Amino acid sequence: MNILDLELKELEKIIKDAGQPGFRASQIYGWISKGVTEPDEMRNVPKKFWDTEGIRDLRVVLPEAVKTQHSKDGTVKCLLRMEDGNSVEAVFMKYKYGNSICISSQAGCRMGCVFCASGMLGLTRNLTAGEMYGEILAVERETGEKISHIVVMGTGEPFDNYDKLSKFIRIINEPKGRNLGMRNITVSTCGLIPMIDRFGDDFPQVNLAISLHASDSDERSRIMPVNKAYPLEDLIRACKRYTDKTGRRITFEYTLIKSVNDDRKHLDKLANLLHGMLCHVNLIPLNEVKEKEFISGTRERAEEFREALERKGIPATVRRELGSDIDAACGQLRLTK
Ligand code: SAH
Repeated sequence: MNILDLELKELEKIIKDAGQPGFRASQIYGWISKGVTEPDEMRNVPKKFWDTEGIRDLRVVLPEAVKTQHSKDGTVKCLLRMEDGNSVEAVFMKYKYGNSICISSQAGCRMGCVFCASGMLGLTRNLTAGEMYGEILAVERETGEKISHIVVMGTGEPFDNYDKLSKFIRIINEPKGRNLGMRNITVSTCGLIPMIDRFGDDFPQVNLAISLHASDSDERSRIMPVNKAYPLEDLIRACKRYTDKTGRRITFEYTLIKSVNDDRKHLDKLANLLHGMLCHVNLIPLNEVKEKEFISGTRERAEEFREALERKGIPATVRRELGSDIDAACGQLRLTK
């Protein structure tokens, strides 16, 4: 059993059931949070503890970094192989406020957004909570850097794997372990409405980002199939429920795709749609994917969008592009054999 998959109280229970003192759980949790994963190296945990019946099967399993690429801008992309042979990618980025990692929540994705590379092969399987935690630890080991911020924006739809995602958040937030602040975590969803409601109840302090990418429902359905199940009007209503409940600002991601969603009429519709909402718009020039016909809106157009939105009182930024020389930019993560 992988200890990374266990919440503190679960680990404690296993340890107590094995007749051992419960405080060993926090000791082990503490070591792991510092990147110490070998039982022998956990200095205050005696060797014979690990030999006890009921404990013997516990191990810390990290994904293996099988390929690491360094970008000129300091971004690092790691291909991580899980125990069963499936691989996912995670991306390390340096910002003024700290070191951030973009992690994957699934191997593949079944949402089928037409401009995205991650979903091209469909969904293979959900990642476990411990595998998500393992992405952080493996990338820290690979880069020698400490990570302070986490965005769940890599491959996969986190709300399509809600139970494992929420367990992961509870594990990395545990004060006796990693103690990562809820406000240092951001989860991005394509808009699975029931889970947005649940997330607002369960994790009101965690940042929520919504992939919007369109200003009306028909257009959105054309590029994001999920919109057929959860149409834009309902999504906006869910977002309002969320901000009313939590008092937290939502980030709307809007990827500019040439001749699809990047002209003036889209801008006006977008501004009307978001008018008066507690939100922030993050404009992302599309990262072009080889196998897809979509072309990026220009950075200048993104700037125009930003200025116009701001004039209408909607805070907006243009996302800085990191790691494009190693195919690590948004939406480019996919497994190339
Ligand atoms: N499934 C989640 C999180 C993963 S995608 C979601 O949809 O939010 C992370 C972000 O990258 C999403 O906003 C997604 O729409 C965007 N994205 C996907 N492909 C892209 C591309 N080619 N260029 C720019 N952004 C892209």
